[in-house]
Amino acid sequence: MMHGPCGEANIYSPCMHEKKCTKHFTKKFNTETTIDEDGFPIYKRRDDGRQIKKGKTNLDNRFVVPYNRDLLVKFQAHINVECATCLGQSNIYSNTFTKASTM
Ligand SMILES: [Zn+2]
Repeated sequence: MMHGPCGEANIYSPCMHEKKCTKHFTKKFNTETTIDEDGFPIYKRRDDGRQIKKGKTNLDNRFVVPYNRDLLVKFQAHINVECATCLGQSNIYSNTFTKASTM
């Protein structure tokens, strides 16, 4: 699943607020997955030159939305799950996107 286009390519995207993407896209290319100082994962994103065209905009790995294949297949929905660790506590944040007819 790809996010966007947003930012300068589409300032009217629903994710835009005060000229910034509320989902923090465009992400940065990273050579490995790390955890930031707040405990959130910064996923590996290869700069391999591959792009797809969405509308008039080319999107690369910086626009890929992470997903869990097993949850996607089981629930037939995109479920955005992030695990964050902070001060010894673990929290799982999730958003579920399903078709209205399947709810
Ligand atoms: Zn956005």
